[in-house]
Amino acid sequence: MARTSQESEELRKLSRSLEIPAGQEWEGAVRLMLQLMGEDPNREGLRRTPLRVKKALQFFTSGYRQKPATILSRTFNVRHDEMVVVKDIDFYSMCEHHLLPFFGRCHIAYMPDKKIVGLSKIPRLVEAFSRRLQVQEQLTTQIAESINGHLKPLGVACVMEAAHLCLMMRGVQKLNARAVTSSMLGVFRTSEKTRSEFLTLIRSNFS
Ligand SMILES: [Zn+2]
Repeated sequence: MARTSQESEELRKLSRSLEIPAGQEWEGAVRLMLQLMGEDPNREGLRRTPLRVKKALQFFTSGYRQKPATILSRTFNVRHDEMVVVKDIDFYSMCEHHLLPFFGRCHIAYMPDKKIVGLSKIPRLVEAFSRRLQVQEQLTTQIAESINGHLKPLGVACVMEAAHLCLMMRGVQKLNARAVTSSMLGVFRTSEKTRSEFLTLIRSNFS
């Protein structure tokens, strides 16, 4: 995500006040966090940790630098008018409330209106939206609406089931709780028959 000049100025100010050298902001922030945890950032085992955390966090948020419009730009005209389903797509995301991972599987279907997209683009779209700070409900909606907006199909369905480390490791500590969210658009919302056909196709995944 491009920073606005005001955000860049704020970052420079913050870095100066913390005496973090320019270009070392990520490492400086992680070192500060380690100190706040009561750790010594200079001890042997932690020396390269700031760099590793920086690389990991940049990867976990790499979706900000991917463009759904580009991923879905190449479409094919077909006469296929049956449901297209891509199920069991693994995804990893980060909850925006605790910066902790949530991860699971995603099932997507759309009903083409003469236009389809390469099957591999669907998991790439899931990556683009999940590699960001997210809440699961919003992630589900964004994926469905993106397909709906770019392909203009007759309908889109997206179901996501995920385990949240913020539920498992802290607070209520419910180890086996899974959150299931769905977004149904077009015929998947209006036609009971279409919706249940989709749910039957993916049901074998719910155990
Ligand atoms: Zn959370």
